[in-house]
Amino acid sequence: MNRLTGSGTGIQDASVGAAGAFLLRCSMYYLKTSATFDSAHFLAGYDGKCANIHGHCWRLEVVVSGNELAAEGTKRGMLVDFGDMKKMVRSMAERFDHVLLMERGSMKEKTLAALREESFTIVELPFRPTAENLAKHFYTLLREEGLPVDTVTVYETADNCAVYREGAYACSN
Ligand SMILES: [Zn+2]
Repeated sequence: MNRLTGSGTGIQDASVGAAGAFLLRCSMYYLKTSATFDSAHFLAGYDGKCANIHGHCWRLEVVVSGNELAAEGTKRGMLVDFGDMKKMVRSMAERFDHVLLMERGSMKEKTLAALREESFTIVELPFRPTAENLAKHFYTLLREEGLPVDTVTVYETADNCAVYREGAYACSN
């Protein structure tokens, strides 16, 4: 068995077995915050109730992770400043609050124009607005804004949610 150790990476112990099984032990910190937004959506082409326009009180839950805390300065002992993280997640939720979420091209141009004429706010997305796709979308946007996002969870009801994350923590070949 080959044994590897890392320093300054949070990796405490990593080993590769004879069969190629890979085990990685590391210490991680996680922070979690959430925000809610109310919006309508519909799933074009879906065979069921969700094909019709309906609303949800969506809940966006974001987890950031990292293995090192700030060593000095005003953020000493912190992974990410909770204040900054909350602000970013809340502002993301606000962009999707009290709007109609729809997949681009899933409504007749005439209908869309009529809704716009009535001053309804419509957010056109390049994907079907399912909880799964929204979770990935928020993950990507928050990462682009520099937040070290680990997991995004989107609840469309209190009981049902979709979870999106990237990366692998253990593998075998
Ligand atoms: Zn729905």
